[in-house]
Amino acid sequence: MLLIFPPIAKPCEPPAGVALLSAALKENGFPCEVVDANIEGMLHLIQSDVTAKDVWSKRAIKKREEILFELKGSRIYQNTDRYHQRVYDLNHMLSISVDQKRFKISLSDYSDSVLSSVNSKDLLKSAAEYKENPFYGYFEAGLRQKVEDSSSEYVGLSICYLNQALVGFALAGWIKDNFRDKKIIMGGGLISSWMSRLDYTHPFDELIDVCIKGEGEQPLLELLGKNKGTKKHYVPDYDFVKKDVYLAPGKVLPFRASIGCYWSKCRFCPEKAETRAYSSQRASKVLEDLRIIEQKYSPDYVHLIDNAVTPAFLRALSHERFSFKWYGFVRFEKDFLDPDFCRNLKESGCDMLKLGLESGDQAVLNQMNKGTDLEMASKTLKNLHAAGILTFVYLLFGTSFEDKAAAHKTLEFVKAHKAYIDYLNLAVFNLPKFSEDAEGLETWEFYHGDLSLYLNFIHPLGWDRKQVKHFIQRIFKKEVSASIRKNPAFFSSNHAVFFNRIKGES
Ligand code: SF4
Repeated sequence: MLLIFPPIAKPCEPPAGVALLSAALKENGFPCEVVDANIEGMLHLIQSDVTAKDVWSKRAIKKREEILFELKGSRIYQNTDRYHQRVYDLNHMLSISVDQKRFKISLSDYSDSVLSSVNSKDLLKSAAEYKENPFYGYFEAGLRQKVEDSSSEYVGLSICYLNQALVGFALAGWIKDNFRDKKIIMGGGLISSWMSRLDYTHPFDELIDVCIKGEGEQPLLELLGKNKGTKKHYVPDYDFVKKDVYLAPGKVLPFRASIGCYWSKCRFCPEKAETRAYSSQRASKVLEDLRIIEQKYSPDYVHLIDNAVTPAFLRALSHERFSFKWYGFVRFEKDFLDPDFCRNLKESGCDMLKLGLESGDQAVLNQMNKGTDLEMASKTLKNLHAAGILTFVYLLFGTSFEDKAAAHKTLEFVKAHKAYIDYLNLAVFNLPKFSEDAEGLETWEFYHGDLSLYLNFIHPLGWDRKQVKHFIQRIFKKEVSASIRKNPAFFSSNHAVFFNRIKGES
């Protein structure tokens, strides 16, 4: 089977979902080829013949190979200003390679002023009008031969993010039109979210032969005639990863130790609204898998992509010593109150932890059902910092539980902990459409489209989006930006981990 991961996602590491599918197929005797069309398609555009019309474009194009080379080395991650100059240059090359009047493409986003990625009719139009898609040239130059060479009747498309949707459907349209004998399977996180909606109407049935909701390994095997009862657990197959192709200083491999979230109680979380069942293997089994990845692929970094790495697995990791560095998302758990535990994590290779603090107001945290105690969060940040682990703190403003005074408490918490917080991610709350909180609020569509997953709402405490945005831009950022590191443009935490020098060093 041919599995394709379409653009656009951040081009710094290979996709994890198709790696698992590939492992499942190969272990059960089905040949499988994976194409990361995301990195290939982006490089195709970046390296295309663009006529430079201004000084910036001329300079960037002249240094094109140098920029790509630099972003794959470690030196540039020691100089934030130079790094940003290079990333903005690269992004500029990507954006001018397409019709800018219609398409807005960056290293992390894709938008079309004509078609919406949350409207099923527009997605089908993107498929029908695939020749207009900016990646059409890449489909022909980079994918045609691979589809022709594939002996399987199926082509699988993995759509995990909204930024992949319009290109993914254009790709589906191209395959349907050019390879009449092929059947298309579509799956991935975004497709699963859509299919989980109570009002999902299967709008793609004419174009897509099979849509898969949730983990795709077993459904794919059953489709190919392998009956139930096959092994359910696989170690990702990264054989498709080409050397030195991704924009990162070394080989980064994503690895997921659990499915869903072991907490699953935060009221604002789409994960809760989608009720994706949590499941995990024993920590010792997951460690075995990680050792296989280490031996087989010698990664420089492992990106743990769990919604939150479980305390049991963190404990298991803390006793191990790996040849790679690792980072991932965790909750504020009591293990972090032990400085030795944090030091052991660092010694196991942990360079950065992402932590969803969300709010610096205990009452808001309680109402959110976040399960976080601010005193514990405070000690955790200090212990991680003392152990030399970068902390990337996520904050969420504008939930229905927060008012202006609560947002100011968050600001005070951050100011009091600025020495222990390396990076901040500031987000404005979007209300998940099918969350329990949506039921009690006056809501309306956030984006127009039958597949939109979020709602706008009248804030019960009068703390509306406009005020929240103003607070973040004019007050919060102003007060903390001097003391917190600059979040890497477009790549955010995926690159933040590489700036792992001690805070304050230049
Ligand atoms: S811990 Fe994170 S993923 Fe889990 S429910 Fe809360 S916000 Fe969602």
